[in-house]
Amino acid sequence: MSQVRVRFAPSPTGLLHIGGARTALFNWIFAKRMGGAFVLRIEDTDAARNSKEAVDIIFKGLQWLGLNWDEGPMPDGSVKGDHGPYFQSQRNEIYKKYVQKLLAEGKAYEFEGAIKFRTPKTIVTVPDLICGNVQFDRTNDPDLVIQRKDGSPVFHLVNVVDDLEMKITHVIRGEDHLSNTPKHLALFEAFGATPPQYGHIPLILNTNGSKMSKRDEGASIGEYIEQGYIPEALRNYLCFLGWSPKDNREVISIEEVIQIFELSQINRSNARFGLDKLFWMNGEYTRELSIEAYAPLAQSILEKSGISFTGVDPTYFKAALAIVKEKIKVGRELPEWMSYFFTEEFDFDPAAAQKVFTPEGLTHLSTLRAKLAELSTFDCATLENSVKALATENAVKAGAYIHPIRLATSGRPVGPSLYHLLEVLGKEKVLSRIDRALAKFKNEPS
Ligand code: GLU
Repeated sequence: MSQVRVRFAPSPTGLLHIGGARTALFNWIFAKRMGGAFVLRIEDTDAARNSKEAVDIIFKGLQWLGLNWDEGPMPDGSVKGDHGPYFQSQRNEIYKKYVQKLLAEGKAYEFEGAIKFRTPKTIVTVPDLICGNVQFDRTNDPDLVIQRKDGSPVFHLVNVVDDLEMKITHVIRGEDHLSNTPKHLALFEAFGATPPQYGHIPLILNTNGSKMSKRDEGASIGEYIEQGYIPEALRNYLCFLGWSPKDNREVISIEEVIQIFELSQINRSNARFGLDKLFWMNGEYTRELSIEAYAPLAQSILEKSGISFTGVDPTYFKAALAIVKEKIKVGRELPEWMSYFFTEEFDFDPAAAQKVFTPEGLTHLSTLRAKLAELSTFDCATLENSVKALATENAVKAGAYIHPIRLATSGRPVGPSLYHLLEVLGKEKVLSRIDRALAKFKNEPS
């Protein structure tokens, strides 16, 4: 069998849609699985919508997802592959040649300045690797415009010519193109060429069952980049939109997917998109990621939120990140969870302060401060023992100390594991933060 060649053929619309990203991913996986080539072809014949920015968004999204392509336009402007540049806007001469061929053979004709293809008026079966055999009745189809009056070629023509020229063996694309396939098969036949095999992937629906559109939350890959998602987590999630390894696993490495992926196992019913699931999955990946790998992403998110890293000790930052990483699911939560590590001037949650910094709560906080000031080691275990011992000694629940000290040292009623938090902050910061809270709330009626 000749080498498998698949392609991702997006039109630059200004965003990389989650459905498009999944199509790209399935093509990429299939190419890897079969030892084939993954071609990127930019279908940019619609000049009105075609901009460099829109193309860059596609590049950026694919690269972020790790879907490197083997042929086509490279982000630096160069072009890889034997078949010339894969921007359709640069391939007009090729399309003209094919139109001429059809005209010369009487398979197309001029009509009011446009060129129409004589659509075969027959019933045709589209053999689909995912959907099975699907019958279409072309008996009432009008002839197909393949070149407009202004000389520009039409989608169906360029799509087929390119699949032919690029020796594409498998067309894996969204089910919205299934109904175009009878037209595409007719064109292949007219060119005397063997068509590729087709596999149409069912659509992605919202949780409420409606078709996912451009405007829906989570529709654009750019949103995930922006919000600090981990690309491997989104890629894992996308694998499961329409495919599954037929066991109960939800977290699976891409290497394993590549080993077991089969087009025939793609689900024939539409996939349901759920942000909650993706959110959860990103949390799983976050916890698994090493601090060294996570730190640069986390730092860029924190800096974007206005936190300055000037003078911040990297060891301190990584220690803080390590305990927060256990609790969060997505990078965008980091500023809320971490800002107080970087400033002594953080605010106190007003509702929590009212509840926790009562005269009694502040007395407990002073007692605890005195105890902590005596400690010569300030690690998690020592801190926990001290708090517990103090609680026993004074016949109160540990919570009597835990709530005030958490609020005093972070300004928040919830956060990372408390004793880890105190250890990371260190004795000096902990004591001075307690002093700050005591001074601030001592005289304030709460
Ligand atoms: N440019 C088309 C799209 O973005 C590609 C269709 C195909 O993959 O054949 O929908």
